[in-house]
Amino acid sequence: MKIKWLRKLIQIAALIILLLPIWFTDLIWYGTYISAELVGVDLTDPLTTLEITLASKTIWTPLIISALPLTIAAILLGRIFCSYICPLNFLLELIPLKKKKTLQTKLLPAVALAIVLILSAILAVPVFNVASPVFALMRVLIFGVGVEIILFAMVIGAAFIWGQKIWCRTLCPLGAIYGLLGAKRRLAIKVDKDNCINCGRCEKVCSMGTSPLKNSFADACTCTNCGDCVDACPKKALSYTFNGLKR
Ligand code: SF4
Ligand code: SF4
Ligand code: SF4
Repeated sequence: MKIKWLRKLIQIAALIILLLPIWFTDLIWYGTYISAELVGVDLTDPLTTLEITLASKTIWTPLIISALPLTIAAILLGRIFCSYICPLNFLLELIPLKKKKTLQTKLLPAVALAIVLILSAILAVPVFNVASPVFALMRVLIFGVGVEIILFAMVIGAAFIWGQKIWCRTLCPLGAIYGLLGAKRRLAIKVDKDNCINCGRCEKVCSMGTSPLKNSFADACTCTNCGDCVDACPKKALSYTFNGLKR
């Protein structure tokens, strides 16, 4: 089975798990992608945790502890939230892949992340949490259509104009924090250089505008470990490895 189809199945399962608590309250899982409880363990996403800590100017130990599971998962597995869970990514991947290099600067998401954190501290509000297209889509799915729909409609519109993952590649602070956490991850795409014929197909298929052949820190942060390049390689020179990034 191609990784792409396995990934689609996991994305759909993640959506179903997100929506199940609307109808069933006695599940082992309860909550959203921002904050949830899984078999009695509290989970909060690392960006929300940082934003709330900066906005409240308080270090609240239970919140910090609840961020550890997803933080450790990102350190080990990289941006798998992006490629396997994010509902916005699932929608974006229905749009034809079109990449325009003009708007691509791999540092921009980190800059957006810094701005979001500074604004959270200044305004005393978790800024991205309130104005995130990812969480807006999640709220629309759970609570119905509201004004939030404008946010992710803008991202979808931008995807039609500038390419499928323009938001992810150039701005999303949530992707940026997962990218930074996973820059030295264990789960990575390994290149068998003996089999590689430099055909460039892996770069062409990469919706994030990188390739497993690129070595920079920015490229390591940008790759979501989606596996699309593994599927595309005609020489089977690419595979997942748990031995870390050794390109
Ligand atoms: S970069 Fe943001 S919108 Fe894109 S897949 Fe990751 S979390 Fe979702
Ligand atoms: S698709 Fe495979 S063979 Fe082609 S450049 Fe990439 S790794 Fe090398
Ligand atoms: S380099 Fe490969 S695994 Fe990484 S984002 Fe691109 S296609 Fe996905």
